Amino acid sequence: MSITANPLPPLRSFPFSRSPNGRNPRVTMVIRSTTGVSVSTALPILTKLQKDCATPLPLLRNIADAMAKDMRDGLEVDGGSDLKMILSYVDSLPIGNERGLFYALDLGGTNFRVLRTQLGGKDERVIDTEFEQVSIPQDLMSGTSEELFDFIALALAKFVKKEGGKFVLPKNRSRETGFTFSFPVKQTSIDSGILIKWTKGFAVSGTPGRDIVACLNEAMGRQGLDMRVSALVNDTVATLAGARYWDNNVMVAVILGTGTNACYVEAVDAIPKLQGHNSISGRTIVNTEWGAFSNGLPLTEYDREMDAESINPGEQLFEKTISGMYLGEIVRRVLLRMEETGSLFGNYIPERLHTPFALGTPNISSMQQDTSPDLENVGSILYESIGVDSNLDARKMVVEVCDTIAKRGGRLAGAGIVGILQKMEEDSKGIVFGKRMVVAMDGGLYEHYPQYRRYLKEAVTELLGPELSSHVVIEHSKDGSGIGAALLAATNSIYEH
Ligand code: ADP
Ligand code: MG
Repeated sequence: MSITANPLPPLRSFPFSRSPNGRNPRVTMVIRSTTGVSVSTALPILTKLQKDCATPLPLLRNIADAMAKDMRDGLEVDGGSDLKMILSYVDSLPIGNERGLFYALDLGGTNFRVLRTQLGGKDERVIDTEFEQVSIPQDLMSGTSEELFDFIALALAKFVKKEGGKFVLPKNRSRETGFTFSFPVKQTSIDSGILIKWTKGFAVSGTPGRDIVACLNEAMGRQGLDMRVSALVNDTVATLAGARYWDNNVMVAVILGTGTNACYVEAVDAIPKLQGHNSISGRTIVNTEWGAFSNGLPLTEYDREMDAESINPGEQLFEKTISGMYLGEIVRRVLLRMEETGSLFGNYIPERLHTPFALGTPNISSMQQDTSPDLENVGSILYESIGVDSNLDARKMVVEVCDTIAKRGGRLAGAGIVGILQKMEEDSKGIVFGKRMVVAMDGGLYEHYPQYRRYLKEAVTELLGPELSSHVVIEHSKDGSGIGAALLAATNSIYEH
């Protein structure tokens, strides 16, 4: 067993980082010593796990090929594959000459963010940006649609009242906003979409089946707020737009956070299911919803058990293998098995080791950053999160388990990216391979888990080989989605630039 201590590449970022980093505070405590605990019985479990999670090059190739094929089938007809390949109705991306004051509203979880930006065109670019984050009270998450949207519109109205300084709205214009809404929506135009269902703990009555832009517009009307939604997008599409504003070679965006998704720039001609849609640019952004991908994934007994006990069994299998919500939980399930079969942590099994999601992905990531000789921080995290005492051998074993799960996740995500690039290249030779091509990445998992990031990039390099991969830039687009949504409000403005 060895602890991976290779130097890690720095995180490459687009230049709009401004929020404080979300690093966990270091847990410090005295570790009680454990005696008489043996890891030898847990070793076969680790060996089997590593075998089941292995992602050798041929397997990655199959994943990339299957992803490309699923994309194609999903573009052919609705329901043609696991991938929904949803049309975003975003046909024109920001190019840098956008001007004026634009807002963005981001609703995708327990927080929502409001943002305003003053754009100054090619020379001045982003003159100023301000944002606020508001957390959504628990009771509103299961209240009525009107209550939720009134709360949002009120927060937006308060934020608008503070407009001043460099933010100027030209006379005789309404304010325009982009609306990033990361729930399943059947988009009907750039500024309308029907909510299919709430997810992520939301159970608001009255919204499913309705146009969420209309819900928001009505609430803004009730608040007397003069603002219109110019672009309804999901977070992946907003990230692509935000990154594209700074770099014309951005063609793909991937979110690796709690969940995962990817979108890319597609030729309208390559979308058979698209009928009667006119795009002046001839291109449009397609939202793959790749979390639903399932072909050829190397799944273990732990994955199958977690899936069976989940609220959506059989669904979102790629997401369950590679995204932040699940990696820690898979590790917990392995550790529980090691404890039950081999007393990895001693004879007493604390209740928290039995508790689903007691071990988070931030925990497993922090444990992998511990380079101290006795893995003191690993011990603290194990004690704090799942209530176990550990000796050095057990801690090393735990780090190996974390690494195995992170490695599989990162490499599969990398293969998924190559699948998208392959699909684009098959359609028009030379569009991707052979010239600079940028994949914009965002999400807490990608941002805060250096080993995962490295495994992802290694898989891309292995699959493409040194020559082709030298043109593919995988770049972190921190908070690109906020400004991206505002930029899409600008490109879809009812006023001329
Ligand atoms: P969301 O996906 O909910 O919009 P983020 O993009 O901020 O939000 O991602 C949050 C997710 O990122 C968390 O659920 C967690 O899985 C993952 N994450 C956060 N911090 C870390 C960390 N230090 N190491 C690894 N993963 C992390
Ligand atoms: Mg997000």
